[in-house]
Amino acid sequence: MNEGQPETRDFIRQIIADDLAGGRHAVIITRFPPEPNGYLHVGHAKSICLNFGVAAETGGRCYLRLDDTNPLKEDQAFVDAIIDSVRWLGFDWGGGLTHASDYFPRIHECAGDLIRAGKAYVDSLSPEQMREFRGTLTAPGRESPHRSRSVAENLDLFARMRAGEFADGEHVLRAKIDMASPNINLRDPVLYRIRRATHQRTGDAWCIYPMYDFAHTISDAIEGITHSLCTLEFEDHRPLYEWFLDNLQLPARPRQIEFSRLNLAFTITSKRRLAELIDLGLVAGWDDPRMPTIAGMRRRGYPPEALRDFVSRTGVTKKEHLIQMSLLENCVREDLNVRGARAMAVINPLKVVLTNYPEGQVEMLPAANHPDRPELGERQLPFGRELWIEQDDFMEVAPNKFFRLKPGGEVRLRYGYIIRCVDLVKDEVGRVIEVHCTYDADTRSGLAGAERKVKGTIHWVSAAHAVRAEVRLYDRLFGVARPDGAEADFKTFLNPESLRVAPHAVLEPSLATAEPGTVLQFERLGYFVADRVDHRPTRPVFNRVVTLRDSWAKLEEAAR
Ligand code: ATP
Ligand code: MG
Repeated sequence: MNEGQPETRDFIRQIIADDLAGGRHAVIITRFPPEPNGYLHVGHAKSICLNFGVAAETGGRCYLRLDDTNPLKEDQAFVDAIIDSVRWLGFDWGGGLTHASDYFPRIHECAGDLIRAGKAYVDSLSPEQMREFRGTLTAPGRESPHRSRSVAENLDLFARMRAGEFADGEHVLRAKIDMASPNINLRDPVLYRIRRATHQRTGDAWCIYPMYDFAHTISDAIEGITHSLCTLEFEDHRPLYEWFLDNLQLPARPRQIEFSRLNLAFTITSKRRLAELIDLGLVAGWDDPRMPTIAGMRRRGYPPEALRDFVSRTGVTKKEHLIQMSLLENCVREDLNVRGARAMAVINPLKVVLTNYPEGQVEMLPAANHPDRPELGERQLPFGRELWIEQDDFMEVAPNKFFRLKPGGEVRLRYGYIIRCVDLVKDEVGRVIEVHCTYDADTRSGLAGAERKVKGTIHWVSAAHAVRAEVRLYDRLFGVARPDGAEADFKTFLNPESLRVAPHAVLEPSLATAEPGTVLQFERLGYFVADRVDHRPTRPVFNRVVTLRDSWAKLEEAAR
């Protein structure tokens, strides 16, 4: 049980604790039920953490159930990606991997039971007529002329639907509930439709498929789900969920509880819209590191621990709210600050030549791999006469407050010496292409006599030992907090700077052997990960996970 912090328990965990204490359930059983029509996103992470979390905390179990009732939109590749994402996030279904399609025979029997009980009928209205008969939020619906078909006729028609005698859309099976109900979901909802589509698991065994609400309730009951946790948009469906439970002979009576969706600023969490970005080539795929998908965040270099921490900080409530992206990014920073070893890399290199350093000489400078974790040890950085520094760390005409390198000025090289800029080499258009400096041999970091202080310290990489790399500077995918607000098409708010590629970056040589997926802090620059897909020792590719500081804070403040 949620050890030690009952006061921070959310309302759902409270209900579950009460159900256990009151003896209503001995074992808590939940499920996470994604439809395999896309990759999972950050919103799903909330549902995953909640469902698997409460099961784990109470010693219960949680099913991973693929809700695969719509073969037109579903794909085995999505099933595989979903399984992969849930596992990566750190959860285990312990043999409880199921599919709504496992239950198609049972769901079909339930339909027959409802027909025999006079609680379902075959309707033959056209889709347009059905819409017209349904009524509106303010006007009641009208009963279909087919509503009074006899049980025998309904059984016959339903059997022939199943046998493939009718065209798609010719008939549907509907529950007979109440066309005048103020809740539109109770106005004789469709239970089955004819759809000639090959299903990724059942192939062509079926040409009729159950609708979501019907299949979902029965699947929950078959699995003995005690608490069916879902998002608020299903609140209006709860009376239907309960109608099915009341009118079918099912082995369990799950309780549906709704909570608010996770809405994250500066992104979108609609699979349909994410798919649109992919189809239009605006991102590289479901696992593009800018995508709010779990696969995208993984490739971006977010650790699963940070994502779980983020979800737990957002809480579980019934209130709709927008979570700031900076909360997620801060969880990532906090985690990576501890986890990430330090390294030096230069994104936009500028050559420095130490004119008083002996040609051909190389010395090794020790550098701690982590400032607070001595157990991570240290490495030796080769240092020589020619170095790369960041273009931004040099200014030819610099303001007084500029404490990095400038003509006549001094700066410390991280883990190394103090250098002074003495000369510049320019190309034909007047751009500085080399900075000539002298180094002060008495100022080597860590050695006695090196106490002399200068205001600035910059990072560098030895030119003779540098490893060339492509560095992908990722940033937020959208430039505004609510890209799916109604003002304009969400795609117009894409951040044109969400990916900038630095093709000529250089890395310290220890990074040549980094495994794909390794996350590091490039000193002064941010956290970076060796790309899981494209990184090779012969052609390193690093993604920026997140900057060291929140560069969006001011913008967000101004927007408020
Ligand atoms: P989308 O709107 O992105 O297509 P969906 O709700 O249709 O999402 P499902 O695959 O049906 O996607 O969702 C599986 C489960 O995840 C459902 O129980 C749903 O309530 C939950 N879920 C989906 N989006 C969110 C979200 N933003 N926050 C919390 N839970 C979510
Ligand atoms: Mg859904």
